[in-house]
Amino acid sequence: MISRAKRLWGRRDFLKSGAMAGLGLGLLPTFKRISTTGAAPVRERYHELGRTGIKMSDISFGSDRIHPGDENVVLHAFDNGINYYDSAETYGGGDAETTLGKALKGKRDKVYLTSKVVAGPEMRKQEMMQALEGSLGRLQTDYVDIYFQHAVNNVARLKNPEWYEFAEDAKRQGKIRFTGMSGHAGNLIECLDYGIDTGKFDVILGAYNFGHDPAFYQKYLRNWDMVAIQPDLPRIIKKAKAHQMGYVAMKTLHGARLNDMRPYESGGATFAQAAFRWVLSNPDVDGLIVTMTSTAQIDEYIAASGARAAEDGDLRLLRKYAELNNSSTCRRGCNLCESSCPYGVPIAEVLRTRMYAVDYGDLRLAREEYGLIGANAGACLACDAKPCAGACPHGVHTELFVPDTHRMLSRA
Ligand code: SF4
Ligand code: SF4
Repeated sequence: MISRAKRLWGRRDFLKSGAMAGLGLGLLPTFKRISTTGAAPVRERYHELGRTGIKMSDISFGSDRIHPGDENVVLHAFDNGINYYDSAETYGGGDAETTLGKALKGKRDKVYLTSKVVAGPEMRKQEMMQALEGSLGRLQTDYVDIYFQHAVNNVARLKNPEWYEFAEDAKRQGKIRFTGMSGHAGNLIECLDYGIDTGKFDVILGAYNFGHDPAFYQKYLRNWDMVAIQPDLPRIIKKAKAHQMGYVAMKTLHGARLNDMRPYESGGATFAQAAFRWVLSNPDVDGLIVTMTSTAQIDEYIAASGARAAEDGDLRLLRKYAELNNSSTCRRGCNLCESSCPYGVPIAEVLRTRMYAVDYGDLRLAREEYGLIGANAGACLACDAKPCAGACPHGVHTELFVPDTHRMLSRA
């Protein structure tokens, strides 16, 4: 017996995948495909998201850097077949949700919308409900498809019983369909392991790129240089799959230093496309989100949609990117340096905000995120000995980058 709610959701999903397939497939830009196997290109752009029944566009919309006035960017994504829009109450202080809500008004039955809340270990369910209702208002909808515990970095947050009570209440009221965990910072693996074991989450939105995969370095750089900083991440993705959870990848561009790569791109393939194909070649990854801020960027990105294998030129580009950026890219989440700081500076978190400023060129986002880090890097200014120097086994100069990030992003 199928419940009324299930029938309703099922119909919504059918409408979305059907409508978007019709919209998107004929509109894909063409790109040169160099197949190593000689097999016909696979062009399936919509993938099942775990057990949810959602069929999401494999390359989907990350909204963390859009603001009112960017509605045309969202509509360009929609017109080109993107049906999954990721957001959070914190993105642009609510601007991202407001922009999505305005741009997608009248299209709710053709898109999937997500949002997130940073629910701390002490947060009450009434506060979570308030946060959700704020997001629904800005998104101009009465439900989100997936509501995430945002940036999980502490198992205590996942042990808060109020989260689960809130989620049940919100589902019963039809305000959320599924719950998820998102994360890409410290303690990620511990948090995801715990969350999966609860059986209470449907989807993970987690970091994943070629730098997270030991196989990439073993196979293509012929050595083990510890760049595969999350050797457990492939295990987590497999575990999520075994639990019929969805896995949506983010941080797929390994720092997104796209301009550094332009001189090495040739034959119509770009570094971003290569990185996406690498991610989508993992059959346990259902899709990815990436920040989209311009129509040209969307055209570039979705040219890789439908791929399920990396290509010859892709590996050359990924390898070049790794060579160029190894010693200046923090592999957030490895945390091997943090015990070296006697002042408890959360080095990986600080360097994550640096990425927004330096790699993404988004000082506003960087300052917002830096402001959210409780114990920031203010202590660095009076730290003459700098014992964190040399603590990063990947060669990241924390003793330079961390104090510099504080100077750059501190509002004081
Ligand atoms: S600075 Fe180095 S050791 Fe510290 S979190 Fe980043 S990659 Fe890991
Ligand atoms: S420079 Fe900053 S991060 Fe490094 S040891 Fe000193 S206080 Fe800690």
